Amino acid sequence: MAGKIVGIDLGTTNSVVSIVEGGESVVIPSAEGDYLFPSVVGFSKTGERLIGSVAKRQAVSNPDRTVISIKRYMGTEHKVTIDDKQYSPQEISAMILQKIKTDAEAYLGFPVEQAVITVPAYFSDSERQATKDAGTIAGLEVLRIINEPTASCMAYGLNKESENGDDGKTETVLVWDLGGGTFDVSIVEIGGGLVEVKATAGNSHLGGDDWDQRIMDWLIEEFKAKYNIDLHSDRLAMQRLKEASENAKIKLSAETSTRINLPFIAADSTGPKHLDFELTRVKFQALTADLIEQCEEPAKRAMSDSGLSIHDINKVLLVGGSTRMPAVQDKVRSLFNKEPSREIDPDKVVAMGAAIQGAVLAGEVKDMVLLDVTSLSLGIETVGGVFTKLIERNSHIPCSKTRIFTTAADGQTIVEVHCLQGERELAAHNKSLGRFELRNIPPAPRGVPQIEVTFDLDANGIVNVSAKDMATGNKQKITIQSPTNLSREEVDHMVKEAAVYADEDAKRREESTIRNKANIEIDTAEHTMRDLGERITPEHSRALRDSIDRLRMSMQSFDLQKIAADTKTLSDTLFAISTDAYYSLETGRVGAGAPGSSALKRPEDRIETDEGSEEPADEELFGWFDKKG
Ligand code: ADP
Ligand code: MG
Repeated sequence: MAGKIVGIDLGTTNSVVSIVEGGESVVIPSAEGDYLFPSVVGFSKTGERLIGSVAKRQAVSNPDRTVISIKRYMGTEHKVTIDDKQYSPQEISAMILQKIKTDAEAYLGFPVEQAVITVPAYFSDSERQATKDAGTIAGLEVLRIINEPTASCMAYGLNKESENGDDGKTETVLVWDLGGGTFDVSIVEIGGGLVEVKATAGNSHLGGDDWDQRIMDWLIEEFKAKYNIDLHSDRLAMQRLKEASENAKIKLSAETSTRINLPFIAADSTGPKHLDFELTRVKFQALTADLIEQCEEPAKRAMSDSGLSIHDINKVLLVGGSTRMPAVQDKVRSLFNKEPSREIDPDKVVAMGAAIQGAVLAGEVKDMVLLDVTSLSLGIETVGGVFTKLIERNSHIPCSKTRIFTTAADGQTIVEVHCLQGERELAAHNKSLGRFELRNIPPAPRGVPQIEVTFDLDANGIVNVSAKDMATGNKQKITIQSPTNLSREEVDHMVKEAAVYADEDAKRREESTIRNKANIEIDTAEHTMRDLGERITPEHSRALRDSIDRLRMSMQSFDLQKIAADTKTLSDTLFAISTDAYYSLETGRVGAGAPGSSALKRPEDRIETDEGSEEPADEELFGWFDKKG
């Protein structure tokens, strides 16, 4: 049914469904008349399935048979077991989607068969696929999976066009999405019908639930102080506390104080006990101040990844129910020095944007394109175990990057292309995606062969890596299906770890480079001595041997400066001696055949690393590990 594509925000805590009608994105209410569908599934003892608000309501009395936050497990092997029956995250999510579909059909009066579903920007391929599968199980054809921040911007982008007309102006927008269990910051460019995500960062374990938890902890503590009863062990009491805490939090977004009252929460020998406390907003904000502070780091990371400064941000969009908290808004205001936008309901904006994408697909809305970014850098392993990036993280996809590499050893006929993903400096610390060999490289001195390596990342996140020997035209390639098959946690973790280890990695990389140069120098010197044979005077020969021995000795130590200095001495000695030898060759001494070509150029000129490379940008030379075939 063309044009009747719904947009669904399948949230961790709440889901929302929307549709474009007469050019406007409108939210479709649930059968209960609420626009939020709690992402909760309950199983009653009589075998009945409860979904949405009814499930959320009975969660208090039925905690063991209620499934919450299933989105966290999408794309994993996690199973939910109820009465000996196992459910996958896809099946549980499908139950939520099915309720959404049924309720929407009842409200709209026509069948709903096609949908656009949103996922966090950091969702990996498997998580996206699982989301799509959930739609299929629910009887929906999922036309597109789009990123939540992108959807938010679509909602604002369309508003802008319908209000102001398309004036071709570009806006840089920061989307601040604080939901029930996750925090996402995205930097997006909107303009001329284009929505482009420039960078994303986040914290997968920071959301409204944490604020609830702080109130809970406080209540438990106060209750313990008053009655000397610990509520922790009472599961039912804990569920009631959780619900009351969330309600109090929501109240405190609008009021400066609230009463938390839970009668018969516990009992002791003296009779039943009632929990009854007053919580002020001031106290609540004091209890949660550090949570607000935790929002800062991902925001800064997204900013630095995008290469933009605060002044470049034209607009900050508040998305997610938790941005209703005044303290969050204050934080955003002070960080970005501007009033954040809340024109569109933070609970509805993602679903509304998804519906707009549905309308784009149906041809109702034109000239809107979606672009995405990679969450981690892609590259290969080069000499010394160094990770050399070809595609930087947060590059727009699709994209393609080519670089020239070379061999690390004389006569090397095979190079191994080891493809990796991550942010750390050394290959071993990153995620291996796959490897292949390019063989039959004509034997040549190291540094001479030119091998062109290309990374192609398509819009679906599929990477093609190819290596081509420029001399022979020989080519090999590999296709990597899901390079970002990492969970959001893993991505966050890898990025954070890279920052923590940046110094250490840089040191190890430096050590690797220094030791590598030393090895090459020794190798070259020994080759040269062999090649030049008789043409080196015994005196020079001794000097060279001494230099080699000294360098070998210092390489036993960890004194990098000494290794570097001795490498330089050896290099200088070698250079002087071979210049001398060739000079005497040119000036008439009879030579036996061509001198070893490897002696002519100093190794530094041939083996390059990232640092100090003087080659032009797309002609950089990287050596592979010595791999003789
Ligand atoms: P998700 O995207 O994770 O499904 P939502 O965007 O629906 O989450 O946000 C849900 C969170 O927002 C919950 O923790 C809820 O308590 C919180 N929330 C909703 N309304 C308010 C409010 N008025 N004040 C504070 N928090 C709120
Ligand atoms: Mg959300």
